[in-house]
Amino acid sequence: MRVELVNTGTELLLGDTINTNAAWIGQRLAALGVQVARQTIVPDGAIIRVAIAEAAQRSDVVLVSGGLGPTNDDLTRESTAELLSLDMELNAGVMEHLSAYFAKRGKPVSEATKRQAMVPRGATVLPNAFGTAPGLYFPAELGAPLGWNAHLFLLPGPPRELKPMVENEVETRLREWLPDGASRRVLYLKVTGVGESDIVEAVEKQLEAIAGLDLGYCIRNGDVDVRLAGPSAAVNAGAAVVRGALGDCIVSEDRRIIEEVIVQLLTDRGEWVSTAESCTGGTIASRITDVSGSSRVFGHGWVTYANEAKQQHLGVSAELIETHGAVSEEVARAMAEGALKKSGADHAISVTGIAGPTGGTPEKPVGTVWIALASKNAETWAQKRFSPGSRDRFKLLTSQAALEMLRRRLMGIALRP
Ligand code: ATP
Ligand code: MG
Repeated sequence: MRVELVNTGTELLLGDTINTNAAWIGQRLAALGVQVARQTIVPDGAIIRVAIAEAAQRSDVVLVSGGLGPTNDDLTRESTAELLSLDMELNAGVMEHLSAYFAKRGKPVSEATKRQAMVPRGATVLPNAFGTAPGLYFPAELGAPLGWNAHLFLLPGPPRELKPMVENEVETRLREWLPDGASRRVLYLKVTGVGESDIVEAVEKQLEAIAGLDLGYCIRNGDVDVRLAGPSAAVNAGAAVVRGALGDCIVSEDRRIIEEVIVQLLTDRGEWVSTAESCTGGTIASRITDVSGSSRVFGHGWVTYANEAKQQHLGVSAELIETHGAVSEEVARAMAEGALKKSGADHAISVTGIAGPTGGTPEKPVGTVWIALASKNAETWAQKRFSPGSRDRFKLLTSQAALEMLRRRLMGIALRP
C-alpha cells in the first residue's frame, strides 16, 4: 500500500514550525508495517491543490495535514472539493459541535468558523475532540472520475488535534485495508539504565531470527524504547527475548515513562517520597510532579544547593562535608536520611554532584554525582555515577538514575552495579 503525506503551511517552509506531524505519522505507520512513500511540504495557497492531485495520482492513500482552520489561508477543504468537483453542504453535526465548543468557552460562533461546518458532498466527517476543525475522509471512489484510486484524509495541523484523529480514524481504516493489518501489533519496551549498543548486543541476534518481526530502537530522555512490530506471534516471541535478557531494566511495556511508573507504584502501596536535590536543582521533584496524581505520593522536597542549606535543612553535619566533600557518598547518604526524617515520607532520594562546566577536580571530575535512597524499612542505597556533558543532559541523566533507583526499590529488584 502506497501512502503519501502532504503537509501544508508556509510556517513549515520558513522553519518557524518543525514538521513534527510528518515524523509522528511516519512512526505510527511504520508500526503498522507501512513505510511512507513520499512526503511533500507546500505553502498555504493554491499549490495545495496541485500537491494533493499529484500525490493522489500515484498513491493508495494520501494524508494531508493543515489548513482546515477558519481563516482565509486555510484552503485545504475548499481545494479538495474543487479538485473532486464536489459541492459543499452545511453539516448539521459539525455545526452542533462548533456551537457546543464555543458555548463552553462563552463565545459566539463566528461566520469564519462556520466555514468549518461546510462539508464536501460524499466526504465523511472525522470528529475533532480537541479543536473546532473536523477532519475529512474522501473514499477512493470520489477520485475515480479523475482516474485516481486514492483514499484522501484531510487532517488538522495542530499536533494535539491530528494525533488522536490519526489513531482513531486513519489507522483503523488502514488496518482494514492492509492484508494482515488486523493481526499486526506493536509493542514498546522501555529500557532504562542500559545503553543502546549494550541492548543491541544483548538481544539483536535473537530478535533478527524471528520471522516477520520489525525491530527498532529509539533513544529518548535517557531511555531506549525497543520497538517490536509485526504479527502478534512474532511480537510475543520478541518480547520474551527482551524480557529474558533485560527484564529488570524494563520500565514499562505501555510507553509509560519512569516517573509515571513510580507514581503508580507508590500510589498502590500508599507510600510517599521526598527529594533532597543539589545539582539537579529540583529536576527530580519536577518530574514526579509532572505526573497527574502525584499529590498522593509527593508532599515536599528540598533543593539544597549550598553546603549551608544541606546543613540547615537536612541536618547534614558540617564536619561530614568538611571531611568528605559535598560530593561524596557520605553526604549523599546523610542528605537522603535527613530528608526521610524531616519529611516523614517512606522514601527519600538525594543527589549531590558536579554539573560543570566548572568546579571539577582530578578526583571528582565534572559529571561526578552521588545518588542515595533512604527508605523507612530498608538500608540506605548509594551509588556513584558519571554523566559528563551539558548541564541539561547531566540533570536529565542524573534524575533518571535516581528515579530508577527508587523504581528498583519499589519493585524489589537489586540495585544495578
Ligand atoms: P487551525 O484551526 O489552528 O488554523 P489548521 O488545520 O488550519 O488549524 P494550520 O493552520 O495549518 O492548521 O496549522 C495550525 C498550527 O498547527 C500551526 O501554527 C503549527 O503550530 C501547527 N502545525 C501545523 N502543521 C504542522 C506540522 N506539520 N507539524 C507540526 N505542527 C504543525
Ligand atoms: Mg490554520
